Amino acid sequence: MSTRRLIPGSAELRAEFPILAREVHKRPLIYLDNAATSQKPAPVIAKLVECYERWNANVHRGVHKLSEEATEHYEGARAKIARHIGASDPAEIVFTRGATEAINLVAQTFGRTRLAAGDEVLITALEHHSNIVPWQMICRERGAVLKVVPITDAGDLVAGAFESLLTPRTRLAAFTWVSNALGTVNPVVEMTALARARGITTLVDACQAVPHFALNVRSLDADFLVFSGHKVYGPNGSGVLHGKRALLESLPPWQGGGDMIASVTFEESTWNHVPHKFEAGTPDYPATVALATALDWLSALGWDAVAAHEHTLLAAAEEALGAIQGVRLIGTPAHRSGVLSFTLDGVHPHDLGTVLDRMGVAIRAGHHCAQPVMDRLGVPATARASFSVFNTLEDVAALAAAVRETKRLFGA
Ligand code: PMP
Repeated sequence: MSTRRLIPGSAELRAEFPILAREVHKRPLIYLDNAATSQKPAPVIAKLVECYERWNANVHRGVHKLSEEATEHYEGARAKIARHIGASDPAEIVFTRGATEAINLVAQTFGRTRLAAGDEVLITALEHHSNIVPWQMICRERGAVLKVVPITDAGDLVAGAFESLLTPRTRLAAFTWVSNALGTVNPVVEMTALARARGITTLVDACQAVPHFALNVRSLDADFLVFSGHKVYGPNGSGVLHGKRALLESLPPWQGGGDMIASVTFEESTWNHVPHKFEAGTPDYPATVALATALDWLSALGWDAVAAHEHTLLAAAEEALGAIQGVRLIGTPAHRSGVLSFTLDGVHPHDLGTVLDRMGVAIRAGHHCAQPVMDRLGVPATARASFSVFNTLEDVAALAAAVRETKRLFGA
């Protein structure tokens, strides 16, 4: 890894991403789909290769050297990731395949044991499907009620609605930090405090927050926090559930299998201590170890520099797209991070996405796994540009030029 501090958007930083060297439809790749998945810098790729070339062996099992090394790398990653998010105890970090699995884990352990008929789970209208459907499923099973904090036309939570929807029956409030569809940044510190004051458990979906700002789970003080590795420059198959230790210890295991047990007989099994109680089966240790590398790499850029760069790109994109007649920015939240959703009059977002792709510009088009957001704002889908530390003002200019060209092609 480079020891110099890389500057977001610089040629030197871009050179860390091998994929940026390729062409798409004979054009240089302009990748603006980072909210769906980020590209990977060379140190992360190198860490995966190093695992398979140097120390690959199953963790927690073997007595041989390679297994010991693999276990050291894996548990070292746990300690490192705990430090990155401000957790005081590595045992509070449960590794999962991603945010979806982490939320399902909480739904199937906390939800299954703590929800009774008539209890309530509170989410917001900004959630990704993965923070809706697991609650819908467990609420149906337990006879509990799913309640939703509404949003304004701008894409912000309706002021005061979260608090007024917290009732004596609310057992859990689960909400996203940053909306993947609109970029809305929710006031999660206030939200967790409001819930905590009423003894209500909280889960924060930090998927779209971790790539953009430093997290501190102690100052946030949510009971659970989840994120996926692949959106924060790490590999697929890696993800994190942070849970307060006493709470994790009080929950039953979810999946059964190897590593999550202390002892097994045909009559009865007993459980391993946390976090292993929640990590049944062989984990994706190479991905997890490389996720720790990704977080090291990102934080070495300096969070102020990361935030300033992102702010510059978002402001430029808002201005450039906003200046095109027929472009509508979807959602104008008070605080936005990472993504810009928009439509172009007379052109379906899927067509827009396809034409942009022919020009080398990769964006996302669709409902972004947030159909209720689209329904609420009265659009079937949007085009979404999402930014990362390797994007540049030239990328923003190319996006705007491609949208203008699409408008000309469609006579829109
Ligand atoms: N929450 C949010 C806010 C997301 O953006 C995503 C992914 N788009 C998820 C949850 C689910 O993440 P994964 O598919 O990696 O499990």
